[in-house]
Amino acid sequence: MAAGSASGHAPARIIFLGPPGAGKGTQAARVSARLAIPRVSTGDMLREAVANRTGVGRKAAPLMEKGELVPDDLLIEIVRERLGMADAASGYLLDGFPRTLAQAQALVGMAGGNPSEGHVFLFELPRAEVLQRLSGRRLCPVCQSTYHVDSNPPRIAGRCDRDGAELIQRDDDKEAAVAKRLEEYELRTAPLVAFYRGRPGFHRVDAARTVDAVYRHIVSQLGITE
Ligand code: ADP
Ligand code: AMP
Repeated sequence: MAAGSASGHAPARIIFLGPPGAGKGTQAARVSARLAIPRVSTGDMLREAVANRTGVGRKAAPLMEKGELVPDDLLIEIVRERLGMADAASGYLLDGFPRTLAQAQALVGMAGGNPSEGHVFLFELPRAEVLQRLSGRRLCPVCQSTYHVDSNPPRIAGRCDRDGAELIQRDDDKEAAVAKRLEEYELRTAPLVAFYRGRPGFHRVDAARTVDAVYRHIVSQLGITE
């Protein structure tokens, strides 16, 4: 099944599933740019809501800080609204949603949310690697670019390559919240594998490979060139 694009093919509807730190956001940035479809990262949207102190942000902040999931009804509304926007009509790449069975079921009823029509990539990475990636992750607070102190460092230490802003460590990448996030993943998100497995367009990704190798694998599964 080849992925569509903005150039008149069927819309490309892509879901990235996998534990925090597996590299979903890193690949989502590249794949969404390649296909010219919006990257819908619920984590980014929530962090923006927190920074802007919106109603959603105030509800989400204490949960995110502890590494807990934000309630389904909030997330489902956010994503429903986002996928209803004009730019999502040509496809979308969901990064960080769905994370629970209720979210996956709600997605089926949303604009173009039928998973049997799209692609689901499951990023698989051993726990030890996940911990290394999360502890070394750094984020640009201005453009949301992600780096890693060892595997993907910026050109100038501590500064974003794109805009020179000072990189930060996410509060929930610190040890206390990481344990909770991984527990939430195992308990609430991992069961989604059974929901999607066996459908056409379900792909496993060996996320331990380099960024370039993972990217090449994804585009080949989508049936497109790099
Ligand atoms: P996720 O969106 O799944 O939480 P990220 O894309 O933010 O994960 O990646 C987590 C960390 O691992 C970041 O610091 C990123 O730079 C780094 N990273 C991403 N992909 C790879 C890879 N293939 N090899 C090594 N490090 C990676
Ligand atoms: P992420 O950037 O994807 O790692 O998400 C950061 C945090 O935002 C998570 O630990 C949750 O607290 C919250 N979050 C993001 N997406 C969802 C979702 N689909 N459902 C519930 N909570 C979410």
